[in-house]
Amino acid sequence: MPSRVEAARCDGCGICVFLCGAWVYEADPATGKAVTTRPEDCVECFICELVCPQRAITVHHSRRRLREAAALAGGLADPGGSVDSARTGDGPRETGR
Ligand code: SF4
Ligand code: SF4
Repeated sequence: MPSRVEAARCDGCGICVFLCGAWVYEADPATGKAVTTRPEDCVECFICELVCPQRAITVHHSRRRLREAAALAGGLADPGGSVDSARTGDGPRETGR
């Protein structure tokens, strides 16, 4: 589960419920506290963890997201894909035109 709410700390302010663009949280109708109802939709942006005034939220990187981030970082650092193409033989080629 990428994000987790520590119920004992949560005061039910609703900030995370309002701010999460992936609609991962809902307010428990009985307590008002945030509950993680759609963890699979979390994109690990860390906004909820940063804004929670009670520091009740912990976001964990999933292996899949780490791979995606690494691939994105590699693509940004090496837009031509030369690192991967040198290793695999795949990727864009210089045409000489
Ligand atoms: S922002 Fe923090 S304190 Fe507020 S509802 Fe979410 S988890 Fe609870
Ligand atoms: S890390 Fe981002 S997407 Fe995931 S629950 Fe928090 S605000 Fe939503």
